[in-house]
Amino acid sequence: MQRHEIYKDDPNNEACINCGSKWGTQTVPVEDKNGNTRLKVICLECERFVKWQALPITKDRALEFRLHFGKHSGIAFGEIAKSDPSYLKWILEQSTFKDNIKQMAKLALEAQT
Ligand SMILES: [Zn+2]
Repeated sequence: MQRHEIYKDDPNNEACINCGSKWGTQTVPVEDKNGNTRLKVICLECERFVKWQALPITKDRALEFRLHFGKHSGIAFGEIAKSDPSYLKWILEQSTFKDNIKQMAKLALEAQT
């Protein structure tokens, strides 16, 4: 079977850390125990795990994103934006939250206005 180096032109495509192949990778969405989805990157050649990748941050993802600690544990950002937007504004001001979480808080707030 003829295969193609499908990501040949992708500057981000690196050789597989397991087998050195440059055939490329496929991504499989996996839901973690908190119900948030991330992508498992798998080598097309040896089918072994290469790395985890975050999903692109979009408005739809932001509205469905949940933290599993704190005041609104398990509640989607889209719901919090309606019921307690000050909480999302508070997240934006905290240095302890990662940038991706802040971006999602911001998008959820913007979607409300
Ligand atoms: Zn490989």
